[in-house]
Amino acid sequence: MNDLLHQAYDAETFRKQGHQLIDQMADYLKNMQQEPGIAVLPWQSPEDRLYSWEADYRQSPDENINRFWGVVMAQSMHIHHPKYVGHQVSPPLPVAALSGLVSAFLNNGMAVYEMGPVASVIERIVIKETAMSIGYSEAAGGFLTSGGTLSNLTALLAARQAKTGYASPRRDSWQQGTQQPLALLVSEEAHYCIDRAVRVMGWGEVGVIKVPVDEHFRMCSDQLEVYYQQAQAAGKQVIAVVGSACTTSTGSYDPLEAIAAFCKQRDLWFHVDGAHGAPAAFSIKYKHLVKGLAQADSVTIDYHKMMLTPALTTALLFKDEQTSYQTFSQQAAYLLSDQQGEWFNSGKRAFECTKRMMSIQVYAIMRTYGKQIFAQNVTYLYDLAQTFTQQIRQRNNFQLALPAQSNIVCFRYAPAHTATDKLSELNAQIRQAMVEDGEFYLVQTSLKGQLYLRTTLMNPFTTEAILAQLLDKVEKIGNDLIKSE
Ligand SMILES: *Cc1c(COP(=O)(O)O)cnc(C)c1O
Repeated sequence: MNDLLHQAYDAETFRKQGHQLIDQMADYLKNMQQEPGIAVLPWQSPEDRLYSWEADYRQSPDENINRFWGVVMAQSMHIHHPKYVGHQVSPPLPVAALSGLVSAFLNNGMAVYEMGPVASVIERIVIKETAMSIGYSEAAGGFLTSGGTLSNLTALLAARQAKTGYASPRRDSWQQGTQQPLALLVSEEAHYCIDRAVRVMGWGEVGVIKVPVDEHFRMCSDQLEVYYQQAQAAGKQVIAVVGSACTTSTGSYDPLEAIAAFCKQRDLWFHVDGAHGAPAAFSIKYKHLVKGLAQADSVTIDYHKMMLTPALTTALLFKDEQTSYQTFSQQAAYLLSDQQGEWFNSGKRAFECTKRMMSIQVYAIMRTYGKQIFAQNVTYLYDLAQTFTQQIRQRNNFQLALPAQSNIVCFRYAPAHTATDKLSELNAQIRQAMVEDGEFYLVQTSLKGQLYLRTTLMNPFTTEAILAQLLDKVEKIGNDLIKSE
């Protein structure tokens, strides 16, 4: 081995750098929790930032890696900041992040049991525990996968296989290619990855049948039959309905029980995209939101959203685990029984070949704090959203887009005497000014053609007082914008 490689693998250097890194991270965390004066997002344009990193790169090689990590931490989006109320990523728990480091270091690739013996069996425990918590029975199972997007695609491939594959071999899409135009029903507010999955499967735009939503942005389940009939008449074979629990934009929960009943009646696969909101099942106070979830054939849950792990860590659960073994059968699924039950060889069921040892991140949390920590997180954040909703209602110059059903709250600044058609532009300007100011980080969304500010309360260190400051800031920036016109 040459000197450089020896040096790069040196255990003592690793020890020193690692100790220092943990100190840096612990200081960072402490600083974040004390409501720091620093910006959530240290704003800089992409061009300016690229320019400064190109200058940094010209310093290389440079052995001071801790300095580099320090700069990365300082310039990144601060998810642990209590004034971060942007997209739906959790501020990872320290034990989960440390487990992520263990995963990165051991690099057990997981495709087969032998390449990830510990992570594979821990995955089994994590999956079974999660399945039980959402109300599934012993027959349920599944696996971990890299993100909700991939999980939803995999679930829909399983659905296709269940409805066109081993059920009727001559129409087996996996073997013969898709023989007939296939389609699924989903709310018009669903995450874009459902649409994308359908197109990836080759069903085209006509394969996604969008069902309208009510004024709370929940699927109008009483319209399912109408859309189903139309699709049949157009020669399409509808094989599935996807329910959102909850939607990304507004945090609205589709009526899962009603959708389940419809699927049963029409013999359709029922998939629930619970990437963000299925963990409501852990909370005694909020589990009513996912009533009917346990009737789904498959469910996607992101641990990296409401369950405190680093991204990407997602569960794809199946009500009947057997169905999950057929998805990627390399021979005719209906002939294969030898694969069944091989839960320990991840690559057979998951889309990925190599994957990270993501199970240990979830397990570390459950083993250290018990599943009640998930319940507490959901309950705190959903409660906080209710409080925030009240705060918005109490202010004259604000409009709530809809009552919050989760920890996602959409609203806009709408002072008297401002024409409605000006509000979208005003709020877009407010949001841009907020981002560049950096004290808070929030996002925006478009609802029925109108732009709203969108917040997702992800951090248990975010408080009512901080949210009041947020509204003050929006109001101040909004006023300044109006005056400067
Ligand atoms: C976030 C989200 C997704 C996408 O999940 P990733 O883990 O980001 O791939 C899909 N569906 C819903 C409802 C989501 O909220």
